Amino acid sequence: MKRWSEEEDRLIEAYGHLGAGGVRNAIEAETGTRRTVEAVQKRASRIGATLLRYETCSRCGKRIPHMNTRWGICAECRYRDQVERHRKAEAVRRDVLNDSADAEEERWRRAAAAERQRRRRRERGRK
Ligand SMILES: [Zn+2]
Repeated sequence: MKRWSEEEDRLIEAYGHLGAGGVRNAIEAETGTRRTVEAVQKRASRIGATLLRYETCSRCGKRIPHMNTRWGICAECRYRDQVERHRKAEAVRRDVLNDSADAEEERWRRAAAAERQRRRRRERGRK
């Protein structure tokens, strides 16, 4: 069995987040040395490197096991985006509906004023 080179150890450190298979592929691609997944696992354990698979959120930098979005951001960041979108949509809706609510109120106010005036005229007419 071929001795582990310093470069291979460095690759384990650098690509540990891809898991043992990812590290094995990286080692083969960069050094041409073929290692088995088991050999990579043993070596990682020997040098105290982790092979825990994770991805890094491009937004907040959090490390999570799986990025379940196509956008390369974590669920939390995606949720935050969603909340922000809803908030903006809500603001637009509020503006639009408030306008029409105001218009509606104005119509009622005018109708009530007209009604009061009619009543006043009627009462004046009675006198
Ligand atoms: Zn994030």
